Amino acid sequence: MTEPGLTSSGIYPWLNDHWAFFLQRLERDRLAHAMLIQGPAGTGKTALARLMTARLLCREPHDFACGQCRSCKLLAGAAHPDYFDLQPEEDSEVIKVDQVRVMTGKLDLTTSISERKVAYIHPAETMNAAAANALLKSLEEPVGNTVLILVSDNPGGLPVTIRSRCQAITINQPDPGIVQDWLVKTSAQPAGRVREALQAAGGSPLRAARYLASPELDAFSRVRAGLSSLLGRPAAVSQLSSELNALNQVELWRWLSICTGEVIKSILLGLPLNWLPADAGLRGVALLELQRQADKNRQLVATSVRGDLLLQVWLINWAEQVP
Ligand SMILES: [Zn+2]
Repeated sequence: MTEPGLTSSGIYPWLNDHWAFFLQRLERDRLAHAMLIQGPAGTGKTALARLMTARLLCREPHDFACGQCRSCKLLAGAAHPDYFDLQPEEDSEVIKVDQVRVMTGKLDLTTSISERKVAYIHPAETMNAAAANALLKSLEEPVGNTVLILVSDNPGGLPVTIRSRCQAITINQPDPGIVQDWLVKTSAQPAGRVREALQAAGGSPLRAARYLASPELDAFSRVRAGLSSLLGRPAAVSQLSSELNALNQVELWRWLSICTGEVIKSILLGLPLNWLPADAGLRGVALLELQRQADKNRQLVATSVRGDLLLQVWLINWAEQVP
């Protein structure tokens, strides 16, 4: 799937209200000097930040940036002198204080093309303490015509002093109906497959779109089929375990958590799941523990721990659910 563009065709349907809010503020000259776009991964925060940036810099804007003026063309070519993109450098996981200083130095200069300067800071929570402190100064003493747009999946990782000085724009997991319609239209795939992609993505629309455009979704189906066939058959663990070990481990543990969560929900609601036998006899308490363990293991596999052992233990516990 391609990234959305700078103009109206680029907005995801679940962001329409956020856009209307931004536009209303802008037109009434009530836009905050700094905004924090926050919400789960894969909900379009980056796209919204880009659309806002383009609209703020455009020299002939309507509801959206025009896409044609000098500003829009420079921005599309990553050469806009009034735009600053602040993110961790290639060899680093954090935004450093020197980077913030260079940015604030440039923001202090007068604009050369547009009426404003825009800084896009992402992922904002990767600023280290010194960088956040340096940014705080420009939040406390804003320069008239600059707008800072911070984006974060994990706003809790930002100092309260930063958060409290930004206008929060929160994107929640969008309504599944809206996302489902959008995915069917943009991917041209059957509704059943789109639904499965959305389940595999835990409701995240852009992750679901990625699954629909790749073989990953078939891997998710195999995980579910494997879990179903394993119930009451602990002897089959090693075979399934070696099959699943070939998958991306972070993704695998996310899926195991999602699948376990679906089973818990189906027990609570008394509704069957299409990928498990109706009489599977799973127990909610044990499942809650399995889900907790899957979430924990997703963090652990990023370290040097033996992922294959974690997986075997988890699968044995799953298989032994059925007495
Ligand atoms: Zn323009």
